[in-house]
Amino acid sequence: MIQVEQHGSVTVIRMARALLGRPLYWTAAYWLDGLLIDTGPACTAHELVRVLEKAPVQQIAITHAHEDHIGGLVAVLTRYPDARVYASRQSLPLIENPELIGMQLYRQAIWGKPQAYSGARSLDEIEDIIRTPQFTLRAIETPGHSRDHVSYFEPAYRWLFCGDAFIGGRDIAWAPEFDMFAIVSSLRTLATLRPERLFPGSGTVRRTPLPDLLGKITSLIQLAEKVQKLDAAGRSTAEIVMMLFGGEPGIHRWTFGHFSAANLVEACRVYNDLTASAQRPPRDTDWTGGWHDDLPDPPSRRSTDPDDLRR
Ligand SMILES: [Zn+2]
Repeated sequence: MIQVEQHGSVTVIRMARALLGRPLYWTAAYWLDGLLIDTGPACTAHELVRVLEKAPVQQIAITHAHEDHIGGLVAVLTRYPDARVYASRQSLPLIENPELIGMQLYRQAIWGKPQAYSGARSLDEIEDIIRTPQFTLRAIETPGHSRDHVSYFEPAYRWLFCGDAFIGGRDIAWAPEFDMFAIVSSLRTLATLRPERLFPGSGTVRRTPLPDLLGKITSLIQLAEKVQKLDAAGRSTAEIVMMLFGGEPGIHRWTFGHFSAANLVEACRVYNDLTASAQRPPRDTDWTGGWHDDLPDPPSRRSTDPDDLRR
């Protein structure tokens, strides 16, 4: 199943495996000016290539080497063999050998297995800058959802392609490999960019992204604080899951426990341990600690999409 929308100069391509005519889980690729950001899962690769018949691809940028972002890569390259592929240094071994991603069976069933590709280049080679005829995008390290994750920012128009560094909605279940400290740090990095349009991995484009980014940071920190209080009160993980989430959500069942509220509680504990030690000020140091929303004012506004201006 594939859906295509136009947001000014950016083509939003949402992909999902369909079950009984309904999408299981959307994931997105974005096309602008010959650049394709992410390639969706293997199961929709041929539909993606059909969409790209009208949108030639000269370059491909990968946010991270999860199967729903690199699964269409080889199919797109079969159609556009001269396209250059860029990814973070940490993503390259996973693109070259997708077995290293460590996909559980449910992930293989939902998205399909990516094919190996060995021609991707590290963003280091181009000093994290991807240029198209019209746009310049800077890659920004945003680990946490995965270690290899980068986002792409177009500073003139303040567009931010953030992959899975921002996932909307309330967090109720995490995979054990998610790193809350890194996720919160990456969200802060993204907030400091003052984006005016957010293009996330889900394909739900956000036109006023800053409150969403700041709200996500706040909700994660508040969740960690709740876990800290319940830990201090001697509650067990099962009790905390019941009190904060009303028990394990459905995703716990169909991912065979890979995603769970208990993982999220444990991620909060790791975060609390890390920030507790970080908040102890060194002696004789003027240390204010914490994070404040005292970000610099955004630069003067020049960020209207050129296609919007034409209308
Ligand atoms: Zn991902």
